[in-house]
Amino acid sequence: MSGRVETHEFQAESRQLLRLVVHSIYSNKDVFLRELISNASDALDKLRLESLRDSGLEADTSDLHIELETDAGARTLTVRDNGIGMSYDEVTGLIGTIAKSGTAEFVRKLKEANENKDAAASADLIGSFGVGFYSTFMVADKVTLVTRRAGERQGTRWESAGEGTYELETLDDAPQGTSVTLHLKPEDAEDHLFDYTDTNRLRQIVRKHSDFIPWPVRTTVERPASDGDGGGDGDADGDADGENPAPERTVETLNSMKALWARSQDDISEDEYKEFYKHISHDWTDPLETVHTRAEGTFEYQAVLFIPSHAPLDLYQQGGRRGVNLYVRRVFIMDDCTSLLPDYLRFVKGVVDAQDLSLNVSRETLQQDRQIQLMHRRLVKKILSTVKSLRTKDAERYRTFWQEFGPAMKEGLLSDPDNRETLLDIASFPSTHDPDEQTGLRDYVSRMKDGQEHIYFLTGESRTRLENSPHIEAFQAKGYEVLLLTDPVDEVWVEQIREFDGTPLQSIAKGQVDLDSGKTEESDDEAGREEEQRREKEFAPLLGWLGTALGEDVKDVRLSSRLTTSPACIVGDAHDVTPNLEKMYRAMGQ
Ligand code: ADP
Ligand code: MG
Repeated sequence: MSGRVETHEFQAESRQLLRLVVHSIYSNKDVFLRELISNASDALDKLRLESLRDSGLEADTSDLHIELETDAGARTLTVRDNGIGMSYDEVTGLIGTIAKSGTAEFVRKLKEANENKDAAASADLIGSFGVGFYSTFMVADKVTLVTRRAGERQGTRWESAGEGTYELETLDDAPQGTSVTLHLKPEDAEDHLFDYTDTNRLRQIVRKHSDFIPWPVRTTVERPASDGDGGGDGDADGDADGENPAPERTVETLNSMKALWARSQDDISEDEYKEFYKHISHDWTDPLETVHTRAEGTFEYQAVLFIPSHAPLDLYQQGGRRGVNLYVRRVFIMDDCTSLLPDYLRFVKGVVDAQDLSLNVSRETLQQDRQIQLMHRRLVKKILSTVKSLRTKDAERYRTFWQEFGPAMKEGLLSDPDNRETLLDIASFPSTHDPDEQTGLRDYVSRMKDGQEHIYFLTGESRTRLENSPHIEAFQAKGYEVLLLTDPVDEVWVEQIREFDGTPLQSIAKGQVDLDSGKTEESDDEAGREEEQRREKEFAPLLGWLGTALGEDVKDVRLSSRLTTSPACIVGDAHDVTPNLEKMYRAMGQ
């Protein structure tokens, strides 16, 4: 019953997103091909895995591949795969809707950038969000997708001009897999850069962006018959002299298909790593740092992990994409595998290929698997040591890292006691030492004054607030540095971590701080105590009056040595919940 064409509306967010993509100037339009090939490659991975697990699946897996077909006259490019395909419902759900978290936020920012005519910002945004399939509308004014899911009879045709609506039709005779046909924009017709019907251009793009795709990306090449075999790079319109025999048609595989992680590090260029990162991360910007590691012996694995150069919009939201892709002996098993890395490293992207796992592992069984636990421990150590050395070797990139991922890393101070020391070493905090630069704890300790025995800190909402806090006066007067901790998570870890490398941490807003001895207990030398008693007597009437006047609002009123210019300040009990923490608990619904 093929034939009835239905028109549907894109879901609101998708519609907005599409409009913005179509009208944004993204300088590197070539990436649409990487997105399509990447989707095709995922679809082939999924089909292979499903057919391995389900021998009853009616699907042809004998020649899994991706095919590029061009028609220069009609100005179309088709990307075809014989992978898993999509059902009718999947087409509406996956292509008509954007299920990605952070979309609303992204659309809002992109709109803002476009309104301000800020092309660079808008390109940055598109790049960091990764618009996947929708990127085709940067080069096409009509896109036709035909697909049939492996094991199903009926196929689906989807077509759209990227403007508000799309058409759907069921088909009786669609081949298994998916084909996406782009009707290239007429306004780009004169520009060779946008001639995506030219095989040489396609070869160039595939080699650059998709070389390591594990499936063959094929295309049919036409060469003048007299041109010999000349290899892949031969000029099609070379030196055919005299007559013009019918052109020779040969099928060429454009990519080398080598799994990047299985190759030796020395043979892989930085560009190859970058392109691989973009393929697996759905991010169009370069990674900040790459970690390529392997283990041999009884338990073998290879891993290529990346630290992105910016935090995803949903880093602190539930339900975002997280985790790395898991392969077993080159067979793709799952993406977003969260058992391989702890939650605080959820921004790390990459591939882990394990030799000895079963192809049938599931998300549930993975968590109990001892090999996975071992890999988990080693990969964490590897990533942390990479960041630690980044900190000493490349201050600029470390700064970017900490700015983007610092708050997430600090969660590790609580959740990963095994690596606490390393995490404390990696961490940086704003401090009174320098208004612009954050400081590491080791640097803080190296600057401690004679007689200073604590690392002092103050927690609160913002740097300005903390700097103007009366608590800080006496410390500044004495030249003591104070860490200014403004992340909500700071409130929590300072409660649990009492020292750094033997030096105790001390809140200057809690308990009694005796600045003269640097200790928090009351001073214990004779003369000091006598002076204290004298002053207490002198001020007893005032303190008593204040205590009655403030009544229920305070626990106690006492003399302090912590102020220099402010007459009074409020302090918490040593074990009280601070105002900022109180707010955070309330926000979490507790
Ligand atoms: P992403 O790849 O980041 O999920 P895309 O916009 O590229 O986002 O694709 C959306 C979804 O559509 C994919 O996750 C996949 O489920 C489906 N899809 C896209 N292309 C194909 C294809 N060639 N074969 C099967 N499914 C596909
Ligand atoms: Mg995709």
